[in-house]
Amino acid sequence: MQNKLKQIRDEAIAKINSAGELDKLNDIRVSFLGKKGELTSIMKSMKDLSPEERPAFGQMVNQARAEIENALEDMKSSLAKKARELQLKSEVIDVTLPARKNNVGHRHPNSIALDEVERIFVGMGYEVVEGPEVEKDYYNFEALNIPENHPARDEQDTFYINANMLLRSQTSGVQVHTMETQPLPIKVIAPGRVYRSDEVDATHSPCFHQIEGLVVGKDITFADLKGTLAEFARELFGEETKVKFRPHHFPFTEPSAEVDVTCFKCGGKGCRMCKGSGWIEILGCGMVHPNVLRMSGIDPDEYSGFAFGVGLERIALLKYEIDDMRLMYENDVRFLKQF
Ligand SMILES: [Zn+2]
Repeated sequence: MQNKLKQIRDEAIAKINSAGELDKLNDIRVSFLGKKGELTSIMKSMKDLSPEERPAFGQMVNQARAEIENALEDMKSSLAKKARELQLKSEVIDVTLPARKNNVGHRHPNSIALDEVERIFVGMGYEVVEGPEVEKDYYNFEALNIPENHPARDEQDTFYINANMLLRSQTSGVQVHTMETQPLPIKVIAPGRVYRSDEVDATHSPCFHQIEGLVVGKDITFADLKGTLAEFARELFGEETKVKFRPHHFPFTEPSAEVDVTCFKCGGKGCRMCKGSGWIEILGCGMVHPNVLRMSGIDPDEYSGFAFGVGLERIALLKYEIDDMRLMYENDVRFLKQF
């Protein structure tokens, strides 16, 4: 029986040492130390021994049990340690790796330029207003002194919804909406999208942006217009910028002018940017035509005003020295990130 006991003990310890997995250890425990385990059954056979032999054998069984339990415990902690090491290795974090960049895109040069223009005019006390892009023929042409069959309509051919509705070809219609609805005096700018049936090329697009300006009140003169736009040019292009007003014709202003600024690249000496002239054209303007005031219900004998229209893309192209307008609409983030 002693040999049998030794055999059971050796077998148990050998199995424990080769277990390799925590789950197997429990099976081994049950098969040797459990209620129907081998060590338990040899205990039961003690009744076959003489009463004198029993205490010594009982002690041996207890010792064998203790050895097996110790072996189980040692193997358990050793396997647990190995598992932990393996887990640490697989979950290793390299804190020296560069952080993942959170790509949020970039603001469009049009938006940056518009913010700048709005900042300048709001600083001069202007309010920013908006008008509809789908517009009545009346507001886009008729009320701006451009009756049917007027040649100016050809230059501003747009997209028609029907005979009376169109996609606005200019933001000037907002002038009329404002004069119809707002109390005098008026001092607004109206930025927004406009449409023309133009082919896409380096300087044209069927959809682009304008910023309209309108001031109506008592005793508004051409001097106010000049002072306002000269200040705008200085704020936008630099303190040294000079302005030049060239006589022009627009149906809705009288007199009308186109405004040039001294080239901010060469300071007026002449360069590639200004095509050697030293001047760059930036906008059109004039005193609001009496007919336009009258059609919007304002008495031109009592009130006067001025208006101007700036191409937003023109400002952005100039300010950020972009040489192809098409780049503005491709939304390639590599292009946008330059500004
Ligand atoms: Zn120049």
